[in-house]
Amino acid sequence: MRTLADLGDLRGRRVLVRCDLNVPLTRDGSGTRIADDGRIRASLPTITVLLERGARVVVCSHLGRPKDGPDPRYSLAVVAERLGELLGRPVAMALDVVGDSATRMVAGLGDGEVGVLENLRFEPGETSKDDGVRGAFADRLAGLAEVYVGDGFGAVHRRHASVYDVPARLPHAAGGLVLAELAVLRRLTEDPVRPYVVVLGGSKVSDKLGVIASLLGQADRILVGGGMVFTFLAATGHEVGSSLLEADQLDTVRGYLAQAEQRGVPIVLPVDVVVATAMSADAEHAVVPADAIPADRMGLDIGPASARLFAEQLAGAGTVFWNGPMGVFELAPYAEGTRTVAEAIAGLDAYTVVGGGDSAAAVRALGIDERRYSHVSTGGGASLEYLEGRSLPGLVALEG
Ligand code: ADP
Ligand code: MG
Repeated sequence: MRTLADLGDLRGRRVLVRCDLNVPLTRDGSGTRIADDGRIRASLPTITVLLERGARVVVCSHLGRPKDGPDPRYSLAVVAERLGELLGRPVAMALDVVGDSATRMVAGLGDGEVGVLENLRFEPGETSKDDGVRGAFADRLAGLAEVYVGDGFGAVHRRHASVYDVPARLPHAAGGLVLAELAVLRRLTEDPVRPYVVVLGGSKVSDKLGVIASLLGQADRILVGGGMVFTFLAATGHEVGSSLLEADQLDTVRGYLAQAEQRGVPIVLPVDVVVATAMSADAEHAVVPADAIPADRMGLDIGPASARLFAEQLAGAGTVFWNGPMGVFELAPYAEGTRTVAEAIAGLDAYTVVGGGDSAAAVRALGIDERRYSHVSTGGGASLEYLEGRSLPGLVALEG
């Protein structure tokens, strides 16, 4: 894989950098704010190196999942503004992705200046499954620059135009963030210090179940929390009320449990759960045994006994990979499970990796110093697919 050092003289050259600036947003009466700018900060080193080398830097990214074209609620303008604050220099912002405004913005960049294109997903070609449609958009995007740098680690598992098709059209290199994330994933997969404990949670259950099959062959123990818990509890015959449930995955999950038993790799489930009448901070809530969830309640966090159990199961680990919050940490009554587990991992003398946009955001929201982990990854889905052994389109493209 070529790196920035292999790109030669960049002075005056237009460099398109695919970053992952897909930050969590909060919206209220006063407008849209960035809830956590971790991914913007993680993108700074590559952008800074390019600027220092005199490149004309064109940054592109997606933000959220806008449907049906441009939607001001998903404009990258707030991100460009924050990027400017963090870089301490002006950042230009285009009003479109590959239209007149983008063309004018790029033409207006001087050496060592930076601008941001509008949200890539405003263009249907970005995510199209049709190679022709995607390719036509990739042609236009590539046409804005002379060199491509892939640094959006959180998106490398997507076969999207800006990730997969543009590098085929321009001289390209991997940015420092992608290389750093890859080095961490290699360390997790190639001879991890044991015991290797994996903690899984979060809400993208169907996306994350697949990794369990591979992890059963790598890890020594898997702790399951978050929204994923309920598909496991249901698979073992328990009531889960109105909790998050992937009903069509019950057989798959039973298969994992059987495999885990066979391999002697425990899948540790919570023993108690915080249930509530609704997903809201002021809903009536209580701690119940995991096998006694009332039919009219939803599970929103692992309970205190489970959090202690998970902390015990983590003690003495040599390597930890944690992806997915243990509960709805954004709401105070359901944040304790995530806090206890996050603290337990931070306190270990082990190689500890936190993956996943929301998991990383949770660590920062809970006020835990990120430096207490060996690595806080910018990519959840991408890390999981790597651990699953899948080939990642964005990496394949950068290798080409
Ligand atoms: P990551 O971004 O770290 O990979 P996910 O995107 O899969 O994690 O999930 C994060 C979300 O999961 C958080 O917003 C959190 O509120 C939610 N979550 C955690 N536990 C539950 C639960 N029991 N029910 C519903 N949502 C949950
Ligand atoms: Mg997420």
